[in-house]
Amino acid sequence: MKNSTEKWIKTTCAYCGVGCGIEAKANKQGTLDIRGDAEHPANFGKLCTKGLALGETVGHEGRLLSPSVYGKSCDWSHALDFVAKQFNQIIKEHGRHAVAFYVSGQLLTEDYYVANKLMKGFIGSSNIDTNSRLCMSSSVAGHKRAFGADIVPGCYEDIEQAELVILTGSNLAWCHPVLFQRLKAAKAKHNTKVVVIDPRKTASCDIADLHLPLNSGSDVALFNGLLAYLNTHDQLNQAYINNHTEGLDLALAMAEEFSSIENIEVETGLSAEQIVAFYQLFAEHDKTVTIYSQGINQSTSGTNKVNSIINCHLATGRIGLPGSTPFSVTGQPNAMGGREVGGLANMLASHMDFGHPAHHELISQFWQTETLAKEPGRKAMDMFEATEQGEIKAVWVMATNPAVSLPDNQRINRILNQCPLVVVSDCMADNDTLRHAHVKLPAQGWSEKSGTVTNSERRISRQRRLLPTPGEGKPDWWIISEVAKRMGFVEAFQYQHEADIFQEYCQLTTLGNSGANSRLLNLSGLGQLTTEQYHQLKPQQWPVKTLDQPSPRLLSDGQFATPSGKAQFIACPFRPAINQPSRSYPLLLNTGRFRDHWHTMTRTGLSPRLSEHTSEPTVTISLEDASKSQLNCGDIAQLHNQQGQAYFRVNIGQNVKKGNLFTAFHWSDNNTNMGKVTALISPDTDPISGQPEFKHTPVAISPF
Ligand code: SF4
Repeated sequence: MKNSTEKWIKTTCAYCGVGCGIEAKANKQGTLDIRGDAEHPANFGKLCTKGLALGETVGHEGRLLSPSVYGKSCDWSHALDFVAKQFNQIIKEHGRHAVAFYVSGQLLTEDYYVANKLMKGFIGSSNIDTNSRLCMSSSVAGHKRAFGADIVPGCYEDIEQAELVILTGSNLAWCHPVLFQRLKAAKAKHNTKVVVIDPRKTASCDIADLHLPLNSGSDVALFNGLLAYLNTHDQLNQAYINNHTEGLDLALAMAEEFSSIENIEVETGLSAEQIVAFYQLFAEHDKTVTIYSQGINQSTSGTNKVNSIINCHLATGRIGLPGSTPFSVTGQPNAMGGREVGGLANMLASHMDFGHPAHHELISQFWQTETLAKEPGRKAMDMFEATEQGEIKAVWVMATNPAVSLPDNQRINRILNQCPLVVVSDCMADNDTLRHAHVKLPAQGWSEKSGTVTNSERRISRQRRLLPTPGEGKPDWWIISEVAKRMGFVEAFQYQHEADIFQEYCQLTTLGNSGANSRLLNLSGLGQLTTEQYHQLKPQQWPVKTLDQPSPRLLSDGQFATPSGKAQFIACPFRPAINQPSRSYPLLLNTGRFRDHWHTMTRTGLSPRLSEHTSEPTVTISLEDASKSQLNCGDIAQLHNQQGQAYFRVNIGQNVKKGNLFTAFHWSDNNTNMGKVTALISPDTDPISGQPEFKHTPVAISPF
């Protein structure tokens, strides 16, 4: 196939949940020229360093070029037959719950939809979970508890309309850079007040009017304290509370402990002046946006953290109005698309849920299946534990690298090593997970595949095919459908084109004539697109009832997706993180991203200019702790705890507090454990969302 990019083609960035529009064109070097799409409502032409460097990452070096079974290269037909036969055999001998899919926010919505349909609809198990479990599953759980469905009420223009923007657990400057630029520009124009709540002094603090370096894990104490403060200072919006919410009394009773500023000081480590300054800012500004991300979600109390934030917005009626919203921003380019189709083990399909016989019936009829799963499946960490215990005997990993990215990483590697059948679909030929694969299936990468992604503000955008695929790489949806047909599910997976899948998914969102699904999550305006219209599709924010009509602002009518139609306050107990520092492991390790790298660097590592910003794994330590540990800047340090050990270059910086360390999770050298932070992270998870704790790991540090 000839390069299709002799002219500028509109597509979407491969990286973060901002979902920036990109224009790309093939150049004489065989790579892509990249520029921002001035018409895309997420970024209006702006891109960050990662997006701008995408053209440097599309070379064919290191690509997986052909399928293989047990190390032997083979044709597609043999590989697909083998996977289908093995899955059927395992299901026959051990039952439908003995197989599992572990998928990814890197998949396109069409891929995700087909994977979910095969596992839940036809295999009849819900053992499909995703690396989005590590990213924002606490937000999903929080939304469902408060709103009755996983509804994200915010949109990016709220940031420009707000008087006060609170960044909590979000280093927006590095992790969502174009959104940070929008906030910075808004502040320059309207003098928007900015509060940053983060144990570290991050780059986002450059524009902060107030930085609250709270103790790691103490967010619920701070936001319960805010709720109590709003109550005692007569700042509650009683009309909104009476008309649109339920459960305030219980939430206030739970927050009562933090009506004392002294108690908040004890738990958060903040001064009374800092706490009161924050509470006054919140009370004084009706138009408030609270942006939160992995610092809130990746916690053993992540769901309560999310709900403690939402409680404060509900109590003041700051939701569904311009410039007023709690706003979860997602890490991955299509974490939202995966949530929308139901690609989490505890969701059924298209925002419909387990435990609702009507939902079960509607989906069974729509998919024409008698084997639709009836119960939630195993969340990511539980899925691998079940594999360790021999209950799951086949895992198909798609577009992700759990051997590096999951907590308690050495154990995950042992589990994959012992699993009787590991199938991996990936565009790269080598990564830590692929080394455990019995079957390798070459997938298309960004710039080769075609489909849709959804960004943090619910905006569906097209990723378009720009370059030919090297070797025999195929779209993920095609690979899954071919296996499904060979497993015997011929009729349900007869897709000819990704547009067929998108149309089917949009039609599924319209099922039912009442309730949240049809009113809030409806994509009926996209359900009859022709293939040509799909090719030309412009960014659309859901719900989409009519093509090219602006989406209504969500929740502006105060009607929620709960049975009563009212939002729910949630009583959020403050519970310190499960693992606390001890004499043996006295320091607290926090993790996050570096500015110019992405996940396990399989793509950003290909760009020399991105590697210039941070070329090796570093751990940042305070001067006092470095002196105490006899470490100098540039030394190699060993970090260890009961999970394992990893090694980092020492960076002494005053942006971390005494007793805290910070590193990123990008590096993954299995041989040396250099930078391999997941070797240190415990497998403990939030009991509601199943999301692991990445921000609060007790460790010891010593010179290496
Ligand atoms: Fe890509 Fe995110 Fe940067 Fe936008 S902000 S260019 S989506 S990495």
